[in-house]
Amino acid sequence: MAPYLTDWRGMWTGRACAVVFPTSTEEVSAILRWANAHHVPVTPQGGNTGLSGGSVPDESGTGIVLSLVKMDQVRSLNVENLSLTVEAGCVLETIQGVADQAGCLFPLSLAAEGSCTIGGNLATNAGGVGVLRYGVARDLCLGLEVVTPSGEVWDGLRGLRKDNTGYDLRDLFIGSEGTLGVITAAVLKLFPKPHGHFTAMVGLPGIAEAVSLLSRLQGALGPCVTAFELISGQCLDIVLRHRPQLRPPLAAAHPWVALVECSLTVAADAAVDQLQELLMAMVETGEVEDVAVASSIAQRRDLWALREGISEAQGSEGFVIKHDISLRVSDIADFVDQASAALAASQPGIRLGVFGHLGDGNLHFNVLGPEGEDGEVFRTRQDQVNRLVHDLVVEHGGSISAEHGLGVLRRDEAARYKSAVEMRLMSALKKAIDPCGLMNPGKLLAEDAWR
Ligand SMILES: Cc1cc2nc3c(=O)[nH]c(=O)nc-3n(C[C@H](O)[C@H](O)[C@H](O)COP(=O)(O)OP(=O)(O)OC[C@H]3O[C@@H](n4cnc5c(N)ncnc54)[C@H](O)[C@@H]3O)c2cc1C
Repeated sequence: MAPYLTDWRGMWTGRACAVVFPTSTEEVSAILRWANAHHVPVTPQGGNTGLSGGSVPDESGTGIVLSLVKMDQVRSLNVENLSLTVEAGCVLETIQGVADQAGCLFPLSLAAEGSCTIGGNLATNAGGVGVLRYGVARDLCLGLEVVTPSGEVWDGLRGLRKDNTGYDLRDLFIGSEGTLGVITAAVLKLFPKPHGHFTAMVGLPGIAEAVSLLSRLQGALGPCVTAFELISGQCLDIVLRHRPQLRPPLAAAHPWVALVECSLTVAADAAVDQLQELLMAMVETGEVEDVAVASSIAQRRDLWALREGISEAQGSEGFVIKHDISLRVSDIADFVDQASAALAASQPGIRLGVFGHLGDGNLHFNVLGPEGEDGEVFRTRQDQVNRLVHDLVVEHGGSISAEHGLGVLRRDEAARYKSAVEMRLMSALKKAIDPCGLMNPGKLLAEDAWR
């Protein structure tokens, strides 16, 4: 049972009386009816790659883990409707492959895509690297099949793009982190496959210049700009140190780099020259320091490997205090300046590993301990660091969890910043749908916050 009881980062280990592996919606329904009758808590689990501790049970050992990994069938593909119906345990990479085989694109993409499941992606409303153009998991879902805590099956798999017949139940379950029911299947939105990609790594003097580059690119190419990933120079150094097989993409070091990707449709092919000209003109004026354009699929893959290797490389440096925050794009430069200065003053020697999906205002504002400091010593500073960073995020009108959800990691912190009205509405929903509190207890909302 061990792999199902500890999360991906090894931060939380729980206990359970069993791990169960249903193979059909009927089996999930039977399990939840049984759990409801016997008051057994249930922790739904997909690929167990979540970063907020939501996918593992608590330490009581009284509940079960309900793993969806054996519900991994593609139920139907409808190319004319640009939709794909899959079971919740389908691995994200498999879904991308099925869409690709059909000449389509399923654009949800994140570094854990080889292990995370679509059920987990929807339960956490995952983001990833394509949000700028295609939106978050919520925007990519046309409908759900859900088993409620009492074992009823709600079939919302009609695959409609418009349905204004009352409260949107789909939206209620998306992002609910297993606390309202079990997602057993979903209809996903597909898109026409781009003809190619323009991918480049750009060296930049500061975040303000990155924001202005993004704005110029969007002005010139509109929705063709599909990814704009910001990486601090310090962060890139750490990846290169731990992944020596990857080469530095630019000749010199830069305070910041951006990994920029444009998806090329037929109309956009003509824009490649314009794009190259724009970047070169910005190099001339000093707004951009250097540019490396990927000229083959292998080079594109290597640029993305630098971005996707960040989490693991940072983990190799010891304990990391992670912040998954979201801000208005226009506030990011100011926030990073203020937070960096405040942290440097209060936590001498700390290192910052800042990267993120700048295009949609999502930063991973990660804080690493001083070089050589014991990870456990650094861990004791976690509460102080979180308070400083989160207070500043909220002062800037941002959110303390952009895409990783609350789980147990951010549950109490979110309650601290949410208004009384928000907390009351969330508690009312929990009470109405899971009155016995058996679905993933203690995650997202503390027991005493809703009972
Ligand atoms: C290297 C790495 C990179 C990552 N990058 C990103 C990123 O860029 N963007 C991003 O958003 N996330 C990212 N993540 C976080 C993680 O991959 C996502 O949260 C993912 O969506 C979780 O999917 P999962 O199947 O592993 O879910 P799990 O970890 O198993 O579960 C996550 C939560 O969803 C609930 N859940 C799972 N399946 C179901 C279901 N069928 N029904 C109801 N509830 C369910 C669980 O109870 C839990 O609360 C990353 C993780 C790693 C390890």
